[in-house]
Amino acid sequence: ARFEHAGLPRELLATVRKLGYEEPTSVQMQALPVAMSGRDLIGVAATGSGKTVAYLLPLGCHVMAQRRLEHGEGPIGLVLAPTHELAEQIALECRKLLGRSLGLNCASLIGGVGKYEQLKALRAGCEVAVGTPGRLVELLAMKNGLCARRVTFVVLDEADRMFSLGFEPQVRAILQQVRPDRQALLFSATFPPALERLARDSLSEPIRLAI
Ligand code: AMP
Repeated sequence: ARFEHAGLPRELLATVRKLGYEEPTSVQMQALPVAMSGRDLIGVAATGSGKTVAYLLPLGCHVMAQRRLEHGEGPIGLVLAPTHELAEQIALECRKLLGRSLGLNCASLIGGVGKYEQLKALRAGCEVAVGTPGRLVELLAMKNGLCARRVTFVVLDEADRMFSLGFEPQVRAILQQVRPDRQALLFSATFPPALERLARDSLSEPIRLAI
């Protein structure tokens, strides 16, 4: 399979090329058709596998389709990551991949920095948000903070690390605020029992990829 066969819009394909991604990695080859078809997905994937591009491409396509249907406020795509560094890295990749090509704005919502800029970005209207669980919970609780009403595509990246850092309650609280008919993708290097339980509670008939 090649990127040309994934059903991506022309502008997005051009950006993939420009970034130097010639061949899809194994995880991309497996995840793209599943995620593009709207199914939930469990991906066993470590850092370096190309998982970020594997979920950002379908996320971008989903947001493009959804933003014509659903006006209103708040992001359409939401990515949860365990650490500030990873969240920033994902936001950067998101802007490179989906920023100019699809005209999507991406907010990074991480702890350890002031909320002012993040609230400003949210008010300005961003269709994708990438954040760490603690800050996302904080912003969701604020009256004029993060609104999850429009979220229909959720990614849990490095879910096992989010759990080992103690973020299970926050992850569950966030998912509870997202409408149940969302599409959800879960990526993790390992699957401890608590994570299997979350997958059972939060995904609907997921396709499991072993990479
Ligand atoms: P990740 O596993 O998402 O952290 O990605 C690891 C690295 O692989 C990142 O620097 C990506 O830019 C790069 N990458 C992702 N997809 C491809 C691809 N299809 N071909 C070459 N490099 C890629």
